[in-house]
Amino acid sequence: MKLGFDIDGVIANFTDVLLQTIKQAYGLTLTEKDITSFSLSVVLGITRAEEARLITDILYKDLPIYPEAKETLERLSREGHSIYLLTGRYAPLRELTQTWLKDNGVPYDELHLLEMGKKYQANIEGLDVIVEDSLEEALEWSSRVKTVLVYDHPYNQSLNVKNLTKRVYSWNEIYLEISQLASNKPT
Ligand SMILES: [Mg+2]
Repeated sequence: MKLGFDIDGVIANFTDVLLQTIKQAYGLTLTEKDITSFSLSVVLGITRAEEARLITDILYKDLPIYPEAKETLERLSREGHSIYLLTGRYAPLRELTQTWLKDNGVPYDELHLLEMGKKYQANIEGLDVIVEDSLEEALEWSSRVKTVLVYDHPYNQSLNVKNLTKRVYSWNEIYLEISQLASNKPT
């Protein structure tokens, strides 16, 4: 199958470095629960220009990788799936991103740097699964991709009244969801 994964908030642990950076920049000690919106501008009460600078600062730091992310992607790749990395990081960060992926041993077939908020418009056909932490992106993907998994965070909660997405809490669960789909899919 063709599997699409977001990087930040799914493979890379952006939040831990965000919390440290907020402490340094604004003197505030927060926990992940305090990050209640995907928009840091809204959470912190800063302009979007300042938010963009904050995000860039964070991405230049060495983000930790989520537990089992590398091992699960390796396993999925070995099982014959194609790994598409779909990030909202902007183009100048391509090299830094490739280095981070290499240093962390993340296997992938294609890396796409897409416009944040419009990733779902990407010209990539035939994706079977998307794993995202942005609820807005995930919901839009649901019109194009049958299985959309949302990696749980306080900032992506939803009443999910139409079941357009399914929530996952770990890479172990991501693996189980994908295996189940693969075993049901006619070849
Ligand atoms: Mg993300």
